[in-house]
Amino acid sequence: MDIVIREPVKLNIESEIFREIADIDEIPVFKPYMADIFYKSKIIADIKSPIDQSKIAGFFKPDKESVKLAIENIHSKGKTQVRNLPGEKRIEIIQKIADLMEVFADDFVDVLVKNTGKTYSSARGEVEGSIDRLRRAHLDLKRMQGDFVPGDWDEHTLESEAIIKREPYGVVLAIVPFNYPLFDVVNKFVYSFLSGNAVIVKPASANPIASFCFSFIALKAGVPENALAIIPLSGKESGVLVEDSRINVISFTGSSKTGKEVIKKAGIKQLVMELGGGDPAFVLEDADIEISASKIATGITSFSGQRCDAIKIVLVENSIYDHVKERIINELSKIKVGDPRENTDIGPLIDERTAILFEKAVEDALNKGGKILVGGSRWRNYVEPTLVEIDDMETMKTTMMFQEEIFAPIALIVAFGNLDYAIKTVNERKYGLDAAIFGKDINKIRKLVRLLDVGAIYINEYPRHGIGYYPFGGRKESGIGREGIGYSIEYVTAIKTIVYNYKGKGIWEYM
Ligand code: NAP
Repeated sequence: MDIVIREPVKLNIESEIFREIADIDEIPVFKPYMADIFYKSKIIADIKSPIDQSKIAGFFKPDKESVKLAIENIHSKGKTQVRNLPGEKRIEIIQKIADLMEVFADDFVDVLVKNTGKTYSSARGEVEGSIDRLRRAHLDLKRMQGDFVPGDWDEHTLESEAIIKREPYGVVLAIVPFNYPLFDVVNKFVYSFLSGNAVIVKPASANPIASFCFSFIALKAGVPENALAIIPLSGKESGVLVEDSRINVISFTGSSKTGKEVIKKAGIKQLVMELGGGDPAFVLEDADIEISASKIATGITSFSGQRCDAIKIVLVENSIYDHVKERIINELSKIKVGDPRENTDIGPLIDERTAILFEKAVEDALNKGGKILVGGSRWRNYVEPTLVEIDDMETMKTTMMFQEEIFAPIALIVAFGNLDYAIKTVNERKYGLDAAIFGKDINKIRKLVRLLDVGAIYINEYPRHGIGYYPFGGRKESGIGREGIGYSIEYVTAIKTIVYNYKGKGIWEYM
């Protein structure tokens, strides 16, 4: 692989946003907002760029006492501050955050490129998606409404009635992964805050800068001072948050392995778990081959395959297999990997450890008779878009790529003749996030839609959760609950039933 990194990575820190939330010497050292102050300490943790592994910033690392204090502030003051804000005011604050994100959009883009390794277009996509999510908060509101239940149909409830309402749980802990360090913060914040909760964000250790910047604009927009905290602990240290009984809801996005640890530690709390995936794509014999191949190539490689909804297995009907394979190879060969600040299509993986795992997965597939059709190599944490052909489904099931989620631009391709068998095979995977179907035969599509054990199916499109306009979420080890505009309200609010009894008062009228 030929990767050239011409210039060292340096954050563009001219803007006001950085002066307010960081001490700036040679590099900025960020002060996490901890529910009442921009926090400073003696211990500084490094933040690196995945582009060249250089240190681009630092942050003041919170100690145990400050974490305890932040939780206490959120619990004893912040949650009441949010609950006492009228809903109309909460939505106004959310709209103001969107306005400010527009003002500081270039700073957010710069941070996402340099701290996450996204290309400029992909970083801008994440910033615009975040603004879009904020702007669409009013679509969540309907789900805050409740029910009226008349007691008329049971002798024990005659002459009574109930109102079933939703109210905020109190404190939501949002644990976010590295791959959408801004959007995941925004999305979890919107549905939690809108429904009246205070929010603690635990960013990924690799790239917390976007969440630091978010706290600055959230406060400027009017989020009450004790109602938000960004607590940049490492995963290992996060038990102190996960186990705390003052936290009522955990909204977690990350790998299935970490998700299981969080579930074990959480105790009795409300959970939304958006976990690992990697999706299958079925190509039926009447599919438009050019369009399908192009969409599948994007589905495999967008943001270097570091997406839960990335395509990882391509299953093609026998009669068109060679043609589809040739077109996907052609599409993948065109994708340029390199420094995302240059004119490239995809940048690096988040770290070298993941790139080594990519190599292992390739080697494992080759040992099992697989053949590299395109790609296969790596340089540091940069890897090529890769397609590996596997002869049959039984062998496929034994591969690392089938059994694990390889967070890189890589997929398996396999031919099938029997649709039922292909469905059965895919359902044996431990993940069940999404699937894609390319084709026209309504009977086959209907069968796939009915039988696939997944949370979402995209027909003639590659899986893309986007801003959650359509709800998404997994089955099996891919998760519990759904994210998506409106739908997540269900997980951050509790149902309260209020029964009004009028028995014997002589005022009752049947409905
Ligand atoms: P990860 O390693 O599981 O980390 C996710 C978050 O959990 C990070 O903030 C991490 O902190 C934290 N964490 C780690 N160990 C923890 C623990 N014991 N207790 C509490 N928190 C802990 O995942 P990732 O590599 O950042 O993200 C990629 C994964 O996210 C993939 O599996 C992907 O499929 C999944 N994902 C799923 C969806 C979906 O909608 N289903 C969307 C996006 C991503 P540290 O960074 O400090 O380790």
